[in-house]
Amino acid sequence: MADIIKLLPDHVANQIAAGEVVQRPASVVKELLENAIDAQATEIKLIIKDGGKSLIQVVDNGIGMSVTDARLSFERHATSKIQKAEDLFCLDTKGFRGEALASIAAIAHVEMLTKPEHDEVGTHLKIEGSKIVHQEVAVTPKGTSLTVKNLFFNIPARRNFLKSHQVELRHITDEFHRVALAHPNIEFHYYNNGSELFSLPKANHRQRIVHVFGSKTNQKLVPIQEDTKVVKISGFINKPEFAKRSRGEQFFFVNHRFIRSPYLHHSVVAAFEGLIKSGTHPGYFIYLEVDPSSIDINIHPTKTEVKFDDEQTLYAILRSCVKHSLGQFNIAPALDFEHDENMQTPYDYKNKAIIQPKVTVDSGFNPFAEANQRTTINRTYTKPNTQGWENLYVGLESQSGSQNAKDVYFESDTITGSIFQNQKEEIESVATTFQLRRKYIVTTIKSGMVVIDQSRAHQRVLYEKFLRNSTIKEAVSQQLLFPLSLSFSKADMAILKDIQNNLTAIGFAFEEIEGESFQITGVPLMVTESEAGMVLDQLISDYQLEVEENSFSQADILSKTLAKTLSVKTGEVLDNESQLALVNNLFACKESRVSPFNKPIFVTITEDEIDKKFM
Ligand code: ADP
Ligand code: MG
Repeated sequence: MADIIKLLPDHVANQIAAGEVVQRPASVVKELLENAIDAQATEIKLIIKDGGKSLIQVVDNGIGMSVTDARLSFERHATSKIQKAEDLFCLDTKGFRGEALASIAAIAHVEMLTKPEHDEVGTHLKIEGSKIVHQEVAVTPKGTSLTVKNLFFNIPARRNFLKSHQVELRHITDEFHRVALAHPNIEFHYYNNGSELFSLPKANHRQRIVHVFGSKTNQKLVPIQEDTKVVKISGFINKPEFAKRSRGEQFFFVNHRFIRSPYLHHSVVAAFEGLIKSGTHPGYFIYLEVDPSSIDINIHPTKTEVKFDDEQTLYAILRSCVKHSLGQFNIAPALDFEHDENMQTPYDYKNKAIIQPKVTVDSGFNPFAEANQRTTINRTYTKPNTQGWENLYVGLESQSGSQNAKDVYFESDTITGSIFQNQKEEIESVATTFQLRRKYIVTTIKSGMVVIDQSRAHQRVLYEKFLRNSTIKEAVSQQLLFPLSLSFSKADMAILKDIQNNLTAIGFAFEEIEGESFQITGVPLMVTESEAGMVLDQLISDYQLEVEENSFSQADILSKTLAKTLSVKTGEVLDNESQLALVNNLFACKESRVSPFNKPIFVTITEDEIDKKFM
């Protein structure tokens, strides 16, 4: 048999390697910023266009490169940072694999301008698909400027896989944050489509964090400090009362490199145990310094995962260090776990009267009238007069006002109907409900009983209401007597800007979203003034997780978030009127069986089933 194995040509090998190193524009940004830092730059500019899809440029004032080095830097395994395998265990540079530039040049149009400090002139190189297509002598300042255009121009599948400009920009900003936080002694400037997003002067760690996340951050930070043989810990944790629903502000740096470590994260969370509500996450900016020989950074191409020699010891030290700071700053005893006002009213609304949670009964609410409206937004309701549904309301007419069950139209979709469809159930004419363990609403139907999860039911009701409002844009907004001023980080403000149309559609009213804070002048009918900040926080975090672009999914995320945040929770007592209204509204929903998060809302227990238990 003839020989069939061949060595891959370099440009193919580079493209394959690129798949590991470059997932999206943000990966290029990370590599270029790290190269600039390794080149000892004291000032770095990041310039982005269209979420990095058309342009990523990093300009540094570092050591620059000679002509030969400039050409060689685009070869695979070409690096000035290590020479032998042992060097891997005493790294003090970000890069060392010598593959970033080779990978990037294989999949984009790259231009480099570079000059070492003491050379008269510099070098200008153009590379397309791994080939140097242009080289000349150039007049350029000390340092290096690397321009990457048309990322993935030769891999359409990868290019198509990229998300919208906004989403890619968000990933870039995340990457920028990590690098900027790790190197406060370097000045950074970051531009997107011509406007400056960040301008960060040389600073200390605390100032850098505040510059990145906004002036309100300062008051949240508690310093941490620990010096041991194994590790030096410094940095900050956020005070427990600022724990957020999002995991946004959680950073570990090891020897000035951002890393992810679920294990170490756990140790911080463990230190916060009992101090923060479940479902919220502590913020932290933790800088670890360890002996480079005690870690392995080369376990992943993007170098964000690190293997520590002695992880368990590190875990214990970190946990006790964080605990110590929490105690020392007298934070722990100040907390009352049951009634932490800061948790419930994060924006200085502590003095407001407490409003008992209650399901609002909208006596004029006529779900069917709105069902008819919906036809105007191109929905088809083909199935007339489903008996089970009518009957459901027989006993309730007196409470729920004027609806005329005969005019009811339903969607043909089988899952949207009611569970009573086939069984022709009826709620007993005197509909009694009671609350079981502050968690379930129990009510009777002809054939037995229904047990309804109160929180999920309310989520469904609210979800449909908000979704409807945002689609037909008829939300009612309550004007605030005094505008409410809320502050957010720049990144969060950008998200709010992204979703502002949908926010308005559901009833938020505000002045222009700009800078670090903005004024809310109106809130949706269901949201109280004191909840507004919390609702927006939750929205930002959900939106970050989902990163959806089209406006329908935006409306969907928005409605889900509001439903989740505002719904009655397990443990809340509901009076009879509220219970009945909830049941009533639930079965007026288009889909009453599952919550917006796909969890079952109720179970039915038939008389037969009960009878069997007595046999
Ligand atoms: P690595 O960073 O792993 O060494 P890269 O492909 O990122 O590999 O870079 C290859 C080499 O090019 C580096 O080792 C460095 O010598 C040189 N280089 C890259 N970027 C710069 C820069 N901005 N300034 C000076 N030298 C650079
Ligand atoms: Mg590099």
